Amino acid sequence: MPNCREPRTELAHIIPWSRVNKHEASNLIALCPTDHARFDAGEIPRQVIEQIKANQAVLSSRYTELERRVLQWFGRHPTESLICLDWSSGLMYESLLLDGFLEPEDPDDEAKAMKMTWADEEDGVLTSPSFSAPFGPRLLRLTSKGKALVDRVVAAEAVE
Ligand SMILES: [Zn+2]
Repeated sequence: MPNCREPRTELAHIIPWSRVNKHEASNLIALCPTDHARFDAGEIPRQVIEQIKANQAVLSSRYTELERRVLQWFGRHPTESLICLDWSSGLMYESLLLDGFLEPEDPDDEAKAMKMTWADEEDGVLTSPSFSAPFGPRLLRLTSKGKALVDRVVAAEAVE
């Protein structure tokens, strides 16, 4: 379930095992033991579980593990709008920036981005590239578009 803090999960059958008699991945979802019991007792509607499963499929087809964890973190911390990530793992959260869900807090961020120049030249042959790459903490802000996505995930509403 969105915002669940329980690290232990079990595989639950979305359509009951007694009816399908199969362990198909499409019919399984990881839930914590408490939510699994609530779902089996009918306290969580199947429609909600199916939407969560569909959202997980959309998010995992587009975003990295790190990006999904960033979205989950904002889901659990609804009053926060900043997160500190690291420059060195920039490629692991690039899609959240490209899709406009996160934006750099530092106005000079773009100027710091990695640059590669060919520094040495011997007999007209370029020999070694020279990098200037930022490293260390990078503050990123959840945009209003990002906040809307997080809210939809938490509410188990369809994400596009
Ligand atoms: Zn739970």
